[in-house]
Amino acid sequence: MSVPLVATIAEVRREVAQARQSGRSISLVPTMGALHAGHASLMRAARAETGFVVLSIFVNPTQFGPQEDFTRYPRTLEHDLQVCATEGVDLVFAPDAATMYPSGFRTYVEVHEWQDVLEGASRPGHFRGVATVVLKLLQQIQPDRAYFGQKDAQQALLIRQMVRDLDIPVQLRICPIVREPDGLALSSRNRYLNPEQRRHATVLFQALEAVRAQVAAGERQADRVRHLLEQRIRTTPGAALDYAAIVDADTFQPLDRIDGHVLVALAVRFGTTRLIDNLMFGMESA
Ligand code: AMP
Repeated sequence: MSVPLVATIAEVRREVAQARQSGRSISLVPTMGALHAGHASLMRAARAETGFVVLSIFVNPTQFGPQEDFTRYPRTLEHDLQVCATEGVDLVFAPDAATMYPSGFRTYVEVHEWQDVLEGASRPGHFRGVATVVLKLLQQIQPDRAYFGQKDAQQALLIRQMVRDLDIPVQLRICPIVREPDGLALSSRNRYLNPEQRRHATVLFQALEAVRAQVAAGERQADRVRHLLEQRIRTTPGAALDYAAIVDADTFQPLDRIDGHVLVALAVRFGTTRLIDNLMFGMESA
């Protein structure tokens, strides 16, 4: 069975309205395509509690910096449609850039302060693009629930804040990180890694697991935990640390002590490929 594919806002609204009329609830899984098992876990979570699952595929130009990988970001629509069919998605919405940002577009959403730390400090403008496109998708589809991955922890927390601040009537679901058997978090960008980089890329997970063990053994000093992360990355061939941060997961303030809701976030470069991973303490999910 193939999945219906629509590309215009009018079409997606029509399909969603029909599903609603037939009494089904609506879920949205926003993605940039190049779908993998991490995305599939979101689809499965949506499928399990929803009548009508919409998956969007849009490589959003406004969340990429000028030196980033927008043009080479993988676009694999045929494969993506097959994954969606296998996972029982009801509708794929894949608009083009002119549909999402018609000429004259000039309104953006910002989640102040939080958009400028961690990922936002390394990728200026990234979260402005993310918040804007997610708000647009929520407006276009008006789902009951929307699904995001813990893999992009800061993104999930920013979107949660935006939903609160702008009174958007949607329930958010944050799903656990799906990993390769050796621990590397699945990412569409993993395919950029050469075999040697791929082997060493497990250091993100291993370093975070070492932190988990250190904290389980009673360590509460954030600078000692950060030191462990930095040292693990520094001693890995080909790895360059972008940041290792230990922050309050509710405020993004750097922490001295591991206490309460804690986000341990890591960004590492292998050549031109940037990988992120994270660990949360003190909460079931974001
Ligand atoms: P992307 O296509 O990279 O924008 O990701 C779309 C959604 O899938 C986001 O909410 C991501 O957090 C989520 N996601 C990406 N990779 C994973 C993963 N390894 N495990 C769980 N969710 C993921």
